[in-house]
Amino acid sequence: MARGKPEIDLEACTGCEKCIDACPQKILKMSDNYNRRVEHFAVCFDEGRCTACVDCADICPEYAIRIWSFSITAGG
Ligand code: SF4
Ligand code: SF4
Repeated sequence: MARGKPEIDLEACTGCEKCIDACPQKILKMSDNYNRRVEHFAVCFDEGRCTACVDCADICPEYAIRIWSFSITAGG
């Protein structure tokens, strides 16, 4: 099964929240903190459930999300 890890460029994020809605796993949320644009930015709060579907990265207008993808092997 593919697993992923979202890497979100918090300074590129404009806080549009599109990735929050797009994530099928519902593991993205807006941070309570602000970036230098004084915008809330997206964060992943449960990386262990990311399936590397890349929906969040595809929908981000700022190309602020990169997905690291790796596979889980039995016994590894
Ligand atoms: S890659 Fe898919 S599962 Fe992972 S955070 Fe993005 S939308 Fe959610
Ligand atoms: S879609 Fe991109 S710009 Fe919008 S909140 Fe998510 S990371 Fe930020």
